[in-house]
Order: sequence, then C-alpha cells, then structure tokens
Amino acid sequence: MLHLPTLLSSTALVCLTLGVAALWVERRAHAGEGLDLVGGALLALAATHAVYLVGGGATPPRPWAAVAGNGLFSASLALLLAGVQAFQEERHRPLPRAWLWAPPPAAALIAALPLAAEPWRGLALSLLGAVQAACLIAQVAGPLRRGEGEQGRRLLLAASVLLLGLFALRAGLALGGASAQRAEWLAVTFLGASVFATLSAVGFLAMEMEWALARLREEAAHDPLTGLANRRTLVETLVREVARARRSGSSLAILLIDLDHFKAVNDRFGHRVGDRVLKEVAERIRARLRGQDLLARYGGEEFVAVLPDTDLAGAETVAEAIRRALADAPLQVRGLRVTASLGVAAAPGEAPDPAGERLLAAADRALYAAKRAGRNRVVCWTEPLPNPESPDQAQQI
Ligand code: GH3
Ligand code: MG
Ligand code: MG
Repeated sequence: MLHLPTLLSSTALVCLTLGVAALWVERRAHAGEGLDLVGGALLALAATHAVYLVGGGATPPRPWAAVAGNGLFSASLALLLAGVQAFQEERHRPLPRAWLWAPPPAAALIAALPLAAEPWRGLALSLLGAVQAACLIAQVAGPLRRGEGEQGRRLLLAASVLLLGLFALRAGLALGGASAQRAEWLAVTFLGASVFATLSAVGFLAMEMEWALARLREEAAHDPLTGLANRRTLVETLVREVARARRSGSSLAILLIDLDHFKAVNDRFGHRVGDRVLKEVAERIRARLRGQDLLARYGGEEFVAVLPDTDLAGAETVAEAIRRALADAPLQVRGLRVTASLGVAAAPGEAPDPAGERLLAAADRALYAAKRAGRNRVVCWTEPLPNPESPDQAQQI
C-alpha cells in the first residue's frame, strides 16, 4: 500500500532539489540553453506535489487544490517543452506560442468550472495533458542541434512516453469513479510523475552535456580561423591512413602547400587582410580535393593535404590544379593575387612509416626545392623516403 502523503512529500522534495540544482548550474556556469526553463519546470512540478499534499490528499481533492495542482502541472510541462525548444534552437520548427502557453490556464479553468462534472472534467484534463505529452514527444523526436545529445534525447523520450501513459491511466481513473482501488491507482500516477521528473531532468542534462562535449571535441580538432582540421587532427589522420594503406596495399600521398611571400601581404595590408586571404585560400584548396581527402592547416600559411589511394602521379595532378587555382585568378579579398609552392610525396602502403613522419619529411624537402627553384611551382619527391631525424638529407635536392 502506497502512503500518498509520504509519496507526495518525497516527490516534491526530489523535484525541488533537481530544480534548484538546475537553476544553480545555469546561473553559475552560464551553461546550457533552456536549462533555466527546465529548472522552472521542476520547481512547478515540486509546487504541484506540495499543493496536492496540503489540499489534495483527500479524494476528491479540495477545489482550490485541483485548480492550482492542474494548472501547475500543466505549466511544468509547458516549461519543459519550452526548454527543449530552446535547446534545439530553430532547427526544429517550434510550436506556436499560444499552443505552448495556452494549456496551463486551460487546465486551471477546466478544474475550476463548477459546471463540469466527473467523469468529464477528469477526461478533459487527461486529454489536455495527453496533448502536451504528445507535443513533447514530437519536439524531442525532432532533429537535435548538430545531431548531438542522442543518449539524453532517448531518456527524455522515455520520460515523455511515460507521461502519455500516465495521462491514459488518469483518464481510466476518471471513468472508473471513486473507489478504494482508485486511491491506489492515484498513488501510482504520482509515483509515475516522480519517475518522469527524474528521468526528464537527467535526460535534459545529459543532452546538454553531450552537446557541450561534442562542441569541445569539434573545437579541439579544428583551426578556428579557416575551420580546417588542425595539426592534431592531421597527426591522427596520418596514423590512421598509413595503417589503412598498409592493410589495403594502396598508395598514400601528401601535399605540403606554402604560400609564397605571404609576409609581404601582412606587411602591406595588415594582419586582418592576411587572415581573410588565408580563409579564401583554404576554401580554394578545399574545392580542389575529394571528399575522402583531408586538408589541414599545418602552420601559419602552410597547409597539408592527405590523399588516400593516390600515387605520386595522381598527387602531382591535384597539386598542379591547386597551384593554378591560386595563381590564375585574383582573390575576392581586395583582388589580391597569391601563389603557392607545393611539395608532393607518396608512398606505397608497405613503406615502414607508422606515423607518416617520413612522408611529411619528404614533402617538406620537395617544398623546399620548389621554393629554391623560384616558387609558384610543384615539386615531387622521387627518392626513397628520407629519415626525418637526419637533417643532412635536407640539402639532397
Ligand atoms: P616564402 O615564400 O618563403 O614562404 O615566404 P613567406 O613570407 O610566405 O614565409 P615566412 O615564413 O617568412 O612568413 C610567413 C608569414 O605568414 C609570417 C606571418 O606574418 C604570416 N602568418 C603566419 N600565420 C598567420 C596568421 O594566422 N595570420 C596572418 N595574417 N598571417 C600569418
Ligand atoms: Mg610562405
Ligand atoms: Mg611557411
């Protein structure tokens, strides 16, 4: 036998704790879009249970408790829905505002109407709640911001489906009329509401956390100026691609691309113009590569392209296309003209070079040769791969 007052007070306390914790995190960490709304939803849920504890323990509950309880519960669902919408931003078409905020006053009104008699009143309230639960399911099932937060979303979805089930149960209770059994089942709905509150709070927090983690990973892997992969991602990709080339016996190629006399662009036009040039150059190079190729910003005005399944001749063709794409047409940035020198190296999969360091060293030496030969040109490394540890080979060409 469930003891209703104990259940109500413990649920109210759980919701209050979760709500205050959510608001505290939101205020302190300025984290998580929609977390304040979800905190508000939990507080409204705590208030709902407190109201039933004080005025609704008896069956049927006192009129004021029915009005306040139903209004507050509906408000907590509206706040949760608004929180999910805020998290998803404009990616999923949000519900019209009226749809979002009309149910709470409607629920209070239906509960207050002296005309409405049971079971119609209970049925109408259950239907209204079921509509809110269905809206929540539809919103949560919608596309996530940048596709992240999948596990949290699952928890939230489970909470929303549970909510829909609770409203169905409540409709059944309204039809069943007053009985001792009814009081038992009423306690079950409050128990369910407690699970719903915990599950939706944890689900929402998990969704926020997953999204923040994904954003951090994204930032850690990319160069903020050009949006290209950064050096760290390049190193990881090289290790992976060298291993793949070794397994499949295919050739792996690398292009090292360095802008010519770029310092002069900065000196003449300033760093801001220099930055815009770097962005446009990155875009032009990107457009010449295939989807499976990786382009990384290696240093200031140096880029590296990793070309899987590509031999030296193929890589030379790509490099020449990149060189021409830069040299043949002025940039949009002030109509400036820039050229680049490119070093190309390729190796069959069986070459002993687990981290791709020898491939990089070869491309570096080919680039050095291109610079010495007058810039704005492509040079391919045709010798055996050098050992990056022995600098004396640098002057080999
Ligand atoms: P070279 O043809 O020999 O490569 O000459 P260079 O001037 O391109 O080469 P150098 O290595 O002497 O100078 C590279 C310049 O790139 C120096 C620096 O002003 C510029 N640079 C590096 N990183 C950035 C950046 O993030 N933004 C801007 N605007 N300039 C950068
Ligand atoms: Mg340069
Ligand atoms: Mg350089």
